[in-house]
Amino acid sequence: MIDPFGRTISYLRVSVTDRCDFRCVYCMAEEMSFLPKAELLTLEELDRVCSAFVRLGARKLRLTGGEPLVRRNIMTLFRALGRHIKTGALDELTLTTNGSQLARYADELRDCGVRRVNVSVDTLDPAKFTAITRRGKLDQVLDGLAAAKAAGLAVKINTVALRGVNDEELDDLVAWCGDEGFDLVIIEVMPMGDIGGENRLDQYLPLSLVRARLQRRWTLDESDYRTGGPARYVTVRETGGRLGFITPLTHNFCESCNRVRLTCTGTLYMCLGQEDAADLRTPLRQSESDEPVDAAIREAIGRKPKGHDFIIDRRHNRPAVSRHMSVTGG
Ligand code: SAM
Ligand code: SF4
Repeated sequence: MIDPFGRTISYLRVSVTDRCDFRCVYCMAEEMSFLPKAELLTLEELDRVCSAFVRLGARKLRLTGGEPLVRRNIMTLFRALGRHIKTGALDELTLTTNGSQLARYADELRDCGVRRVNVSVDTLDPAKFTAITRRGKLDQVLDGLAAAKAAGLAVKINTVALRGVNDEELDDLVAWCGDEGFDLVIIEVMPMGDIGGENRLDQYLPLSLVRARLQRRWTLDESDYRTGGPARYVTVRETGGRLGFITPLTHNFCESCNRVRLTCTGTLYMCLGQEDAADLRTPLRQSESDEPVDAAIREAIGRKPKGHDFIIDRRHNRPAVSRHMSVTGG
């Protein structure tokens, strides 16, 4: 799959549900209305569409959400997709999770061919954790992380930098990840979806500031480590750990974009920051043959846009894109 700008599309991220057991303040409103179940692709349809992408050249699949591990029988999908790892058609099957269910599933994930997980942790303070997630329990996530480690899964921690919330703590997160052997990626908050009373300007903390602050305590050595994603990495000399920064607002990473995103209703977004999308549910449901869905995917890749343009400032203090991150999948 090659897009109009010559980029090879080899990475599919799939949001398998818009539901979640948390309500992180930057991601969701307190009261959310979720999609009716009939709108969702079934697990069989998700397998079909993911397998179509693999057939067309995707080498990496990431399941995300909402919270992927709260979708009923999700392990059936992991197991089905694991067959592409076994045949060598797929290099990597992975997931992004809030970790709340990891203690239960870590061994099984490993068994399905998963080797790495991204787990979101914004703070190591239990009270703050519950405040940010509005209902999560840090202990449960730490148990999940211990289980992932014990199962031999490599762990990358995702932390959203939030002004006045966890900015003082990022040093400790770097130290903790160093001790645990986890990679750490710090993410700038993105203007996606209505989040109720919360104010984006209040949350926004530019990573240039974060980096300058971290450099007071840590030596950050430039690194050419790349995952094909938007993160730029350094190595923390004192811990040997890898530290990535994702700065969608202050840095343009579109030129090397290798990915597209599928929602749980079968809508394919060619860019996280643009509204243009392709419906894959109709071709999936209209025929048992794979031809219509393959054709729809090819057509969609043929109109992947060059890039996006997120802005948070006083004039633009509203979502640049109306859908929530939990819909497109983070
Ligand atoms: N529930 C899983 C989790 O939290 O890891 C997977 C889905 S979540 C939408 C994926 C990632 O997106 C998480 O690391 C989360 O912190 C991040 N995220 C959500 N909303 C965001 C926003 N507005 N700006 C930046 N990152 C966001
Ligand atoms: Fe749920 Fe992940 Fe969004 Fe938090 S960031 S509300 S855990 S989907």
